[in-house]
Amino acid sequence: MTKVFKRILAVCLFLVITPSIFAQDLPHHNPVPGGIAIVDLQSNSDSAPEVYFEERRVMVLKGNNGHWQAVIGIPLTIKTGKHTIKIKQTDKAQLAFNVTGKKYELRHITIDNKRMVSPTQADIERHMKEKPLILAALKTWTEQSEVPTAFILPVQGRLSSQFGLRRIYNKQDRIRRHTGLDIAAIVGTPIVAPAAGRVIRTGDYFFTGGTVFVDHGQGLVTMYCHLSKTEVKAGDILKQGDRIGEVGMTGRVSGAHLHWVVSLNNTKVEPKLFLAEQVSQRTTQ
Ligand SMILES: [Zn+2]
Repeated sequence: MTKVFKRILAVCLFLVITPSIFAQDLPHHNPVPGGIAIVDLQSNSDSAPEVYFEERRVMVLKGNNGHWQAVIGIPLTIKTGKHTIKIKQTDKAQLAFNVTGKKYELRHITIDNKRMVSPTQADIERHMKEKPLILAALKTWTEQSEVPTAFILPVQGRLSSQFGLRRIYNKQDRIRRHTGLDIAAIVGTPIVAPAAGRVIRTGDYFFTGGTVFVDHGQGLVTMYCHLSKTEVKAGDILKQGDRIGEVGMTGRVSGAHLHWVVSLNNTKVEPKLFLAEQVSQRTTQ
């Protein structure tokens, strides 16, 4: 094929695939524990229906077919099988979706700083003060008709530890879930906003070190951990690609990296579902 023909073909395909002006990008549908279910609400009403999953408000966006779509964050701990969402303002009061199983690997992690694995009483007291602030930030809900869900990677680096891994720290009995995606990079590497948003809060916390929370609207919140430097403050408005801070190794870490959390309906989900396919496959383990 000639270059010109290829370009014409690309433009044609673009025109065919481009949805109506009211539709917008949606994250990838992957209804597994820790994934996202996109459920067609079979409604094209003027205003978006209000949807709840496990008593939590759920994101609703206009899909390519002109129907409202519920974009549901699925907890890592959910049971597989049928689940229902509750809908207000439509004929159907509830709709079901199916969650299929996913096997997450088990990893052993060694942390040299013993205090981070077995915190002292003072450390626990500090954490108990910080925890409500972190939980409140993740719960943020902002009414917003459009939500930016086509993310870029916040750091140029190696995807070093996957979301959802089952982890055992320093041979302890307890299994903890890895609820973010780790991107390894040297201290000082810039961290940028993967999508437009507003800074909810910044802080320095016992486990997550230098931390920033960003609100993208309708319950989509991202969190950036272990920063060596924070370059934003609460209330700052960010465009996609704006600097947030620098990669560090503050808090509970075994090396310099960004621990990146994506939360939807106050549920931590696989960040890769917001990335273009070719970016999310750039991983080493
Ligand atoms: Zn991590």
